[in-house]
Amino acid sequence: MKNVFILISIIYSIMCSSCTQHQKADLVIINGKVLTIDKDNPSAEAIAVSGEKIIRVGTLREIKAYIVKGRTEVIDAKGRLVIPGFNDAHVHFGPLDPDYIELRYTTDPSVFTEKVREQVARSKPGEMIRGGHWEHEMFIDKKWPSKELIDKVSPDNPVILSRADGHSVLVNSYVLRMSGITRNSTNPFGGEIQKDPVSGEPTGILKENAESLIKTGNSKTVRTTEQESERTRQGYLLALKEAREYGVTSIQIPGQADFQAYSNLKAEGLLTSRIDIGQSLTADTSTLKRSLKLSVKFPRESDWIRFGYLKAFIDGTIGSGTALMFEPFDDNPGSSGLSMMTYEEFENMVITADKMGFQIGTHAIGDKGNNWVLNAYEKAQTVNGKRDSRHRDEHTQTLISSDIPRFAQLGVIPSMQPTHCITDKRFYEKRVGIERCKGAYAWRDLINSGSVLAFGTDYPVEPLNPMEGLYAAVTRKDRLGEEGEGWFPEQKLTMEEAIRFYTLGSAYAQFMEDRKGKIKTGYLADIVIVDKDLLNIPENEIMKAKVDYTIVGGKVVYASGR
Ligand SMILES: [Zn+2]
Repeated sequence: MKNVFILISIIYSIMCSSCTQHQKADLVIINGKVLTIDKDNPSAEAIAVSGEKIIRVGTLREIKAYIVKGRTEVIDAKGRLVIPGFNDAHVHFGPLDPDYIELRYTTDPSVFTEKVREQVARSKPGEMIRGGHWEHEMFIDKKWPSKELIDKVSPDNPVILSRADGHSVLVNSYVLRMSGITRNSTNPFGGEIQKDPVSGEPTGILKENAESLIKTGNSKTVRTTEQESERTRQGYLLALKEAREYGVTSIQIPGQADFQAYSNLKAEGLLTSRIDIGQSLTADTSTLKRSLKLSVKFPRESDWIRFGYLKAFIDGTIGSGTALMFEPFDDNPGSSGLSMMTYEEFENMVITADKMGFQIGTHAIGDKGNNWVLNAYEKAQTVNGKRDSRHRDEHTQTLISSDIPRFAQLGVIPSMQPTHCITDKRFYEKRVGIERCKGAYAWRDLINSGSVLAFGTDYPVEPLNPMEGLYAAVTRKDRLGEEGEGWFPEQKLTMEEAIRFYTLGSAYAQFMEDRKGKIKTGYLADIVIVDKDLLNIPENEIMKAKVDYTIVGGKVVYASGR
């Protein structure tokens, strides 16, 4: 009798597994080279999707059973690489401005003059002119730009041009005048008004907190409220289009953004990337309580628009010479950088917010800045007790060697942007010397000590295209593909690791590794098909790779020529 019972249950279980094969798919991908990022099932040929989720990952034969004629959309990957959608863990995403003056990759400062002249011609007197993404390190003479470049073409308009890192701006004399900034102005705390060493006049460069001095006068708005809001909406749509063309299916915005705008887009069916938005870290408990309410309204359990973490800044950047270092900069021995607040202030904020259950993410670039962040997170664990807090260290750029194992020990996530490495390496050694560079972008050392990295871009500081990040992570070479082994090549990653941190690693950083970042049954169907086999192409082909399909929540949101 007992044997009969076992027999029946075996038959029953066989029947059951066969009936799942009759489950219908809305979408299948066949003939793929699927890199699943699932260590239990690393590769596959095909994927079946129903609704928003993956229902089966397997061989072509297995998946064909899910196809129902007239219902199932079939994508033939034709041998192309299929990976989880990219999850940008640090991206200053938002509506794009069609009038913004793009100065990225400018090598000749006279381009500033020309582009500002053109924009002024399109504007009315008093209207604000904005632009940026310049880096003086790319100029032939590598000198900071100054107001003289733009003054003569913008006598009647305020002009603000941001450095690529967003930590310094170039303004014209119009802005300096409106802001009351003169040779006699003193530096605000945590900021610098750059002055000409000979004349003592402000050069037009304002660093860090000095930007808060900016006043632009009565900039005339020429658009109605309706025109303005339609322009903003179009700006969001432009930004989302860019994201899906690059296969970026998840976006984690550091700090604040407009929850309502994304909710509206979602309601209209126009949101094509999942969005995490945070708030600023503060010591003010009533503000924290408001953030707590937001985190209830946009909970961690949801899949589309979620409350992320509380963002803080401990220091500036290496490029602007404002990163907080233990020792002075090699090229500016009078300075060890700037801290945005005292350590005690920061620690208190961290302890308070940690106690309320928030995740915290702090921008930290210099070795001392990173050390402070780890110290404060550690203190919060001691005071409030250890929990799965996954506090984040945004950028993790320069570390002293004794701090490297502390990330894994404390469960702190290094949230890093590989392209910063290949952009900044041009001036890193000059600024901090070769010894301190050993702890810069120390990906391999962090992994070896047990850390889970999250990858992103810091867009618009760096381009949004994930292929640039993958290239940077596996080569540590400049974008022109310089000779040699790359910058501190012992820290390089394999392509598979780089993709894993850009998908599963980033999902872990937002507490979503149970449903995102892998191609696995039950996971959200966020999938990208790439036109080149990233795992087997020469280095100089990586940045040329393009996304052919982007699928978010089971829907094809982007398809190139097919
Ligand atoms: Zn950033």
